[in-house]
Amino acid sequence: MSRSAHPAGPRHADVLPEGHYSAPPADLNRLDPKVWSRTVERDEQGQLTVGGLSVTRLREEFGTPAYFLDEDDFRARCRAWADAFGKDADVFYAGKAFLSRAVVRWLKEEGLNLDVCSGGELSTALSAGMPAERIAFHGNNKSTDEIHRAVEAGVGRIVLDSFQEIVRVAHIAQSLGKRQRVQIRVTVGVEAHTHEFIATAHEDQKFGIALAGGQAAEAVRRALTLDGLELIGIHSHIGSQIFDMAGFEVSARRVVQLLAEVRDEHGVELPEIDLGGGLGIAYTSDDDPREPHHIAKALTEIVSRECEAAGLRTPRISVEPGRAIVGPTAFTLYEVGTVKPLEGLRTYVSVDGGMSDNIRTALYDAEYSVALVSRTSDAEPMLTRVVGKHCESGDIVVRDAFLPADLAPGDLIAVPATGAYCRSMASNYNHALRPPVVAVQDGEARVIVRRETEEDLLRLDVG
Ligand SMILES: *Cc1c(COP(=O)(O)O)cnc(C)c1O
Repeated sequence: MSRSAHPAGPRHADVLPEGHYSAPPADLNRLDPKVWSRTVERDEQGQLTVGGLSVTRLREEFGTPAYFLDEDDFRARCRAWADAFGKDADVFYAGKAFLSRAVVRWLKEEGLNLDVCSGGELSTALSAGMPAERIAFHGNNKSTDEIHRAVEAGVGRIVLDSFQEIVRVAHIAQSLGKRQRVQIRVTVGVEAHTHEFIATAHEDQKFGIALAGGQAAEAVRRALTLDGLELIGIHSHIGSQIFDMAGFEVSARRVVQLLAEVRDEHGVELPEIDLGGGLGIAYTSDDDPREPHHIAKALTEIVSRECEAAGLRTPRISVEPGRAIVGPTAFTLYEVGTVKPLEGLRTYVSVDGGMSDNIRTALYDAEYSVALVSRTSDAEPMLTRVVGKHCESGDIVVRDAFLPADLAPGDLIAVPATGAYCRSMASNYNHALRPPVVAVQDGEARVIVRRETEEDLLRLDVG
């Protein structure tokens, strides 16, 4: 049934109730604070403002399409996560959600650590001054060059993903005269996604080393014998856009079982466990994400309970939220180009971007909200599909949305909650120019990632 596989199992759309979008919202002009960033509101003229700046002003200065990121909101979310987990735990922001040098500086100032998963992300982090010991290096196929750079820079941990990598990292560390702190990523047989999780014995996917069949225990055994490695703990990441803590409960229980086995076999109590990221955010008014302090309380309780039962000291916990920090902080601003009513079906609204700046709808059947933001309207709601300008019929930004029936070319519409996995997954399909990311705070806006130009495209094309 599913034409696109979601990394965490069934697609969101598969588990939605029937007729999800059957009724238009009561007030099309309302901007639901659940899906918009903290400083977003409508001004007296009916325009959306963020950080005190109106969208027409932002459009004049920065053009469309563009991502506008609410810096106060980003920093507040960092602090909320850091405060919720406190001194006895570590919060690593998953850089793959969205990374830029400004973001690295904010993370550094707000006391967070950073996950990277490529040489490119590592150099972005280091070039913006993130201390190497606050960086964790991930990935299922790190190149020897990437490993070399990470060990040489002195990253705080490398998360080992395969038997080959255990040997590879040990060898590189030894050749550099170092002992690298590492965790082993295990697959616990839990696929968690949104409101469901599935506990299985085996996982048919590329990440990590299976707990099943004693694989992970064998990986620990090998890592403990290698001089180049200091094994500090076990890592598990179970999915994305998760609202329900039950998947974490199963995962923590299975990881703690492994810790107990390791103690029994080697007499070593590994001091850390990392429970990964994947915490959900509100893309539409129907989503109800938990606050960081609820999540922190639930996770620490689960781990302490399981450790107590196994007679282990409670390890230091780390978590790796990406989407939950940056996702809600940004929206994408588009200009409407064409409005095409299809009799008896719906109205297609074409914008000046599309799958090149937001691939998630095409890739995962992700859901988004959308609003007319350059004015308010008293017109009736009309059922629309917001589409991009690319040469693909799957180039959909918002599959089902109600917009006012008087929507016209030149209007500005905005899609909220596009801070995560939109700019970071953006492409040049059809030689599109990737949009800028503009940070907005206290009446000031500045470009943190500039818009691509045709010159940029031609510079790569060496003829
Ligand atoms: C992707 C990923 C994350 C972040 O996931 P979010 O859904 O953005 O919170 C954290 N840890 C690992 C290992 C990941 O691969």
